[in-house]
Amino acid sequence: MTLINPVTQYPSNTEEQSQPAPGLDADMTPKADHGEGSYVGSGKLAARKALITGADSGIGRATAIAFAREGADVALNYLPGEQEDADDVAKIIGEDGRKVVQLPADVSVEENARKVVTDAVEQLGGLDVLVIVAGKQQYVDDLADVTSEQFDQTYKTNVYALFWMVQEALKHLPAGSSIITTSSIQAYSPSPGLVDYASTKAAINTFSKALAQQVAPKGIRVNVVAPGPVWTPLQVTGGQPTEALGEFGQQTPLGRAGQPAEMAAAYVYLASPESSYVTGETLNLNGGMPTP
Ligand code: NAD
Ligand code: MG
Repeated sequence: MTLINPVTQYPSNTEEQSQPAPGLDADMTPKADHGEGSYVGSGKLAARKALITGADSGIGRATAIAFAREGADVALNYLPGEQEDADDVAKIIGEDGRKVVQLPADVSVEENARKVVTDAVEQLGGLDVLVIVAGKQQYVDDLADVTSEQFDQTYKTNVYALFWMVQEALKHLPAGSSIITTSSIQAYSPSPGLVDYASTKAAINTFSKALAQQVAPKGIRVNVVAPGPVWTPLQVTGGQPTEALGEFGQQTPLGRAGQPAEMAAAYVYLASPESSYVTGETLNLNGGMPTP
């Protein structure tokens, strides 16, 4: 096998651009890599039933593709305005011969969050992996300019939805199941303009570590993926200042932004029995930035 240098594996330059949130992968330049053309499965998640939030684009999309190629049936949650991206994912997964269920809903509303879980259980015929990837991130320089509405929506999307969906899922998850949440380098090394977002990512990390201990005796594992800068719609819809996007990720030791495709294998590992003795752990996939 040819060795690949991770420094030069993907371009180090991205492009300044802006879309209204939540944004579409279909409208990004350059295109992100979700492993569509590269991820090869080996039955690691054969016959598993997974619900993935934020599955239309970015990290969730790469995870959905990888899960399907590993043999899982997958329910995709995303915002109704992201149907175009979600249809692309469903098409790719359908071509792999796996069952795919589309569940568009705004999970920052309690009723919706709980219903997405019960719909997934019903339509997949059970559930044994819950992957929470959906998130909201809006960069604001001065805390004085963070509206209560933004603060509320960021916490509802990133933290409350996690609580509601996990609570609902625990009624159904059998022993051997996995819950995987998505934190960030922002939990440890927060940017000054991301006070609200960064603090939700710390909450997700700690929530997951507490929960992992609580449900371990039931045979359910809870783990966290903490990405660094990854090229996704989240970042071009106000997640970063537009003028910072050209050098996005260049501050990392590897000198470039990560791609969604580089995140997916961590979710596969944490869902699969290969990580049977791993719970309450955070896997940092951040281009080499030190974490505690
Ligand atoms: P993304 O924009 O592709 O994914 C975020 C998704 O969240 C959207 O596609 C949308 O479907 C979903 N979402 C947002 N609000 C929602 C709501 N109210 N209801 C339902 N779905 C909603 O971007 P991404 O970067 O792949 O983000 C995925 C996760 O990764 C997020 O939790 C984010 O915090 C985390 N993360 C991203 C980075 C990065 O640099 N991109 C770094 C660290 C952590
Ligand atoms: Mg999206």
